[in-house]
Amino acid sequence: MKGFNIFEYMKKYKYENIFFCQDDSSDFKAVIAIHSTTLGPAAGGIRMWQYASEMEAIEDALRLARGMTYKYAAAGVNMGGGKAVIIADPKRKDREVVFRTLGKFINRLAGKFYTGEDVGTTLEDMEYLFMETPYVITLPKHLGGVGPVSPLTAFGVIQGMRACAKMVFGSDNLKGKVVTVQGVGAVGSSLVEQLAELGAHLIITDIDEEKTDALVDKLGVKKVDSEAIYDVECDIFSPCALGGILNDETIQRLKCKIICGSANNQLREERHGDLLIRRGILYGPDYIVNAGGAIYDADRLVGGVNLERGRQKVARIYENTERVIEIAQKQGIPTYRAADILAEKRIAAISHIKRYWETMEIR
Ligand code: NAD
Repeated sequence: MKGFNIFEYMKKYKYENIFFCQDDSSDFKAVIAIHSTTLGPAAGGIRMWQYASEMEAIEDALRLARGMTYKYAAAGVNMGGGKAVIIADPKRKDREVVFRTLGKFINRLAGKFYTGEDVGTTLEDMEYLFMETPYVITLPKHLGGVGPVSPLTAFGVIQGMRACAKMVFGSDNLKGKVVTVQGVGAVGSSLVEQLAELGAHLIITDIDEEKTDALVDKLGVKKVDSEAIYDVECDIFSPCALGGILNDETIQRLKCKIICGSANNQLREERHGDLLIRRGILYGPDYIVNAGGAIYDADRLVGGVNLERGRQKVARIYENTERVIEIAQKQGIPTYRAADILAEKRIAAISHIKRYWETMEIR
């Protein structure tokens, strides 16, 4: 990015480290950004992407690492925020070399950074990583991980929806509510199934018709074209596909009372969160409501795999969403800003406790 000054940016948003990793024999280039280790070791997935420039990759790693700090902090998980990006075509075939190389570099950080899958990487890639380093959170079941977390992410989104519904409709019962779902991939399809069980009326869309047709056949839900989803009259709109979909054009078209979905970075710009208030729409902030998978994955690091305990922890997204709405109302601010305040408050409080422990240790 033109005019991007790395150290100024790091200082402004309180980043700790950036690690650059390269190995020319395997044409390997990666950046690991550590935003904060105040709450615990930094954690965040590995994004593999053909960035337009190295600067763009660094900026993405930094932005995503900070997002992880906020997600874990607000969710009550004792992890800090980090992110790894591999600068390469996500369809690159020599995955073993790529991920074992990254594994070697991550191992050097000696547990300061834990990682997992993200855009462009898969659970199979994590198996290669795990050959070189134990600091892998998302793992298949046969390696001691929890396996795919999307159903738990969807379960968490529903808890966020219920808290929003309580606020807007006076009841958190989703039975009979009309919910539109944009994107029925891993999270969206599970969300649709779980909402159907709760008695919600579903209208879905996806650019991949095979996915929508499968759900129409299985559950009898309705489907619309991907562009038409913004115009459907509904109670709740659930974006589960792409980021940036809440913008000047789409917000004017929406006919819902609540937005609550799994997609990351739904607001194209922060000001769009303010625009939603003016339209009378309650926004369940993305990183608050989509933290279910991250919560479940992190939980097995402390107590081993346990679905029931994981679900109980993910269910707390309900109270967390209520807390965010309460802060927003009390302070007269949008919910996206209230979410940041919730996260920042926890980081500040825990860093005080850490200072106290250090004093005790010296004695
Ligand atoms: P996915 O790739 O399995 O599903 C995304 C779906 O969106 C695909 O079916 C795709 O065809 C569809 N899509 C893409 N563009 C579309 C458009 N313009 N209109 C309609 N549909 C479109 O991904 P996922 O794992 O289900 O994740 C969905 C979103 O949730 C992503 O933004 C992801 O970052 C976020 N998220 C996922 C998890 C998780 O546990 N998987 C956790 C937190 C956040």
